[in-house]
Amino acid sequence: MADVKCYACGKPAVIYRKYEGRGWCKEHFSLQLEKKVKMTIRKNRLIKPNDKICVAVSGGKDSSTLLYLMNKFFGKRPDIEICALAVDEGISGYRSESINEVKKLSKRLGVELVVVSFKKEFGMTLDQIVKKDYRPCTYCGVLRRYLLNKKSRELGATKLATGHNMDDEIQSIFINNLKGDINRLLRLGADPIIVNHPKFVHRIKPLRDVPEKEIALYALLHGINAHFGRCPYVKGGLRFEVRNFLNHIEEKYPGTKYNIVRNFDMLLPALRNYFKDGEKIRECSKCGEPTSREICKACELLKNIKG
Ligand code: SF4
Ligand code: ZN
Repeated sequence: MADVKCYACGKPAVIYRKYEGRGWCKEHFSLQLEKKVKMTIRKNRLIKPNDKICVAVSGGKDSSTLLYLMNKFFGKRPDIEICALAVDEGISGYRSESINEVKKLSKRLGVELVVVSFKKEFGMTLDQIVKKDYRPCTYCGVLRRYLLNKKSRELGATKLATGHNMDDEIQSIFINNLKGDINRLLRLGADPIIVNHPKFVHRIKPLRDVPEKEIALYALLHGINAHFGRCPYVKGGLRFEVRNFLNHIEEKYPGTKYNIVRNFDMLLPALRNYFKDGEKIRECSKCGEPTSREICKACELLKNIKG
């Protein structure tokens, strides 16, 4: 990067975008990234006056950068409230470290942080759950989403913002196609709610047009507290293979990832319109949370391990 100069001002570049054939300095790169996030918010009308935005934070670079940017853009707006919500699944040697980073960041930004735990809400940590049924990511994903929706609603949030980046989004487009899961495919996009239910907090993904690498660079350049450790349960699987495949293709044919997202965004409104009667939402007969089934997935999993 030493001899690459910023295309706008000639200062030393911090990034060189292959698909664009240009380098950018810290200032111009940061301005572009912020502009892109603002554009995603504006284009999809993600945030409205009087919104209370609850940012789902894990301590990783994506959600920490999201909290930082939401606070930068909306922190001074008197009509908008921001809070952060973290879920402690109880993964020893990993989650408490990442939650420490969240605590430091929310303190630095002056944003209220609420931490909820599997132990307190379900009576067991993820480490204890997997001793009964070794499907860590299934339990983790379902129970975390369940708590994020329930707790953000109890906090009075009108929006639940998550840190999904462009790479996450493209991987999900591929995975849902490979699995033939049309309902999940329709739930992608910056504004993924397609079924309205009063108990569902409207989810938004302001970072979904920003590549993962650029978020990591922005976090580094702006000293955003983030934990870079790896969850001990992380394993290979389909997402891992799709991720490697996409990175390989992007390396060979720069700009492919952008093309995939752009193409998907053009198709999504028509797809949603065609399948609009797909999923019916009701309330779980055990816990009352919204679900498309008689008993929600969280209750079903908990029944599994508690007998
Ligand atoms: Fe949860 Fe770890 Fe699986 Fe991620 S890798 S879903 S944090 S158990
Ligand atoms: Zn339930």
